[in-house]
Amino acid sequence: MRTTAGTIPGRHAAGHQEAASAAAPSPTQAASAEGFAVPGFDAVVRLVTRSLGVPLVSLVLHGGTAYWFADGNELPAHDPRTLHPLYLEAARSLTPHVVLDTLKDERFRDAALGLASAPGPIRFFASEPVCTLTGQQIGALCVMDLAPRTALNESERTSLRDAASLVGAGVVLRSYLGRTDPITQLPHRYAFFDDLRKHLQDGAPHAWVIAIDVAPVQRFNAFIRAMGHAYADELMRAVASRTMAWIPADTRLYQVGATRFAAVLPDRHVIEDSSRLDDLVARLRQPFDCLGIPLTIQPGVGLLKINERELRGGDPLRLVMNASHAAQHSVRGWAVYDRQQDEQQRQEFFLVTELAAALTDRTELDLHYQPRVDLDSGRCVAVEALARWQHPTLGLIPPSKFVGLAERAGLMRSLTQWVLEHGVAQLAAWRRQGHDIRLSFNVSSTDLGADLVGRLRQVAEQHKVGLDMLELEFTESTLMEHSATTRRHLAAIRQLGAGIAIDDFGTGYSNLAALRQMPATSLKIDQSFVRGMGTSRHDEAIVRSVAELAHSMGFRVVVEGVENPDLYDSVLGMACDEAQGFHIAHPLPSAEVVEWLAAHRGMLARRPA
Ligand code: C2E
Ligand code: MG
Ligand code: MG
Repeated sequence: MRTTAGTIPGRHAAGHQEAASAAAPSPTQAASAEGFAVPGFDAVVRLVTRSLGVPLVSLVLHGGTAYWFADGNELPAHDPRTLHPLYLEAARSLTPHVVLDTLKDERFRDAALGLASAPGPIRFFASEPVCTLTGQQIGALCVMDLAPRTALNESERTSLRDAASLVGAGVVLRSYLGRTDPITQLPHRYAFFDDLRKHLQDGAPHAWVIAIDVAPVQRFNAFIRAMGHAYADELMRAVASRTMAWIPADTRLYQVGATRFAAVLPDRHVIEDSSRLDDLVARLRQPFDCLGIPLTIQPGVGLLKINERELRGGDPLRLVMNASHAAQHSVRGWAVYDRQQDEQQRQEFFLVTELAAALTDRTELDLHYQPRVDLDSGRCVAVEALARWQHPTLGLIPPSKFVGLAERAGLMRSLTQWVLEHGVAQLAAWRRQGHDIRLSFNVSSTDLGADLVGRLRQVAEQHKVGLDMLELEFTESTLMEHSATTRRHLAAIRQLGAGIAIDDFGTGYSNLAALRQMPATSLKIDQSFVRGMGTSRHDEAIVRSVAELAHSMGFRVVVEGVENPDLYDSVLGMACDEAQGFHIAHPLPSAEVVEWLAAHRGMLARRPA
């Protein structure tokens, strides 16, 4: 390696300049303070310093911003206004530049190529354009020395070219790492966070963050499956440009997710006039013409008001996403972040994860059994299996909290399978002990698939229990579904010999014609009417007439919610076949059922023959 004409003081020695500049920061200095955040850039600088034996390296960007290095260390920024025209020329041309001795070159007669921290004028200069992988020029990598040269040999030229390619590749890598989106060229998530933080640190009491969701993820994936990635890219660019036309000119739009944009809005834009948000939604709901094919998206616009304290340790995008997601399914199309709703969703998410684990491990789940008695004989003829979830830290979670959750999270099939296996095994054990009882259990509409029949048959066979010993309780709305498939599945269950009950009858909207068509064997009158009988004559009339009607239509009528002796006596005088409720027994753990059966015998009043 050849020796250099002199060593240039590096960053540390240039400390006085930094201190001076810190007093009055200029835009250029701010840019330099951030540094050129390309992965591996400092290593490239060191490499080029060594392989070309030059003390000075600079990266000059297309717009004039320059980053300076001496002996591999970054120097404070230069004011771009004092930049020698050669640097800009190099940064904007696609050809390399070499000046072996500036003192012998006409172009430097009036303005020497200097550098504030260098002890003398720069004599040698060479540059190589820096391009991205797609061929877009972003600037030039320049090397300088205080001593002139007689030649730049082939190996040195190659080193400089390679170094410039590495910087170009780093720029692309930077976009992948989240600074700018390669498709829309919009600044990315990290830039959004930086800018939001700066906005709040600069003294703004709060910021309004807006997020725009293009379409629900599944729908967007369907676009891609049908139309391809190029179409989806074009769509994102089109949505970005329509949104940019809406946001104020001095506001940046960021691409913060594959299908999501965000911006920090000035106050006046949001609060003073909410019709502006209606306007944005209306614009985005207009069909997009992408590559000649019209497409309508399902936008959701979310808003979040956030201050610096809330930003610390928080994730504003997660919060605003909650609002934009909710807005996607609303008529208005935009929504403001709702902390309570968010908390509820988080808890739900936590519970779903826990429920999935409980369904795998199964030590936290249990079944309780509530007796059903025949009103003619007073005998217990069946028990209803009711799921219980004992969470290690949250305690007992009622089915009203986790059944719906299981349904929404796609866990219902596992839950029902568990109830089926567990309940039928227990029933088989009781029947072996001589207890002539049946088992009813609750089944949700999502269970009503082709394999339910197979699962029923398999579990019954495994435990050697007749299928006529089982009854499936469906809600009214499930049975109201008139689809041919539903009807086929229900008919198949009936054919197996298992019973079908309409649970919570009276809470749905079925009419008499629908009732006549339901392929059910029993009808359970909802406990709300039964419990109301004590105080409301209307409720009594409802229970009485529904029981009579259902009975005459051939259903076995079960009344739920029989809580006290008076209610029990009332239903004895009606056309009801069975009763269930706290007066008879609360749902019992399996270990207590046999004891209850023994104690109960003959205890309850029965209908006179
Ligand atoms: P359901 O099927 O109508 O079950 C009857 C509910 O009423 C049970 O509540 C039971 O404890 C309660 N109950 C019984 N008698 C009385 C009474 O006299 N007074 C009052 N106030 N309540 C009474 P639980 O166990 O909390 O279950 C609630 C609902 O959760 C069930 O209503 C059922 O729809 C659902 N569920 C429970 N376990 C399962 C399950 O394994 N699978 C499915 N799909 N749903 C289940
Ligand atoms: Mg039930
Ligand atoms: Mg019920």
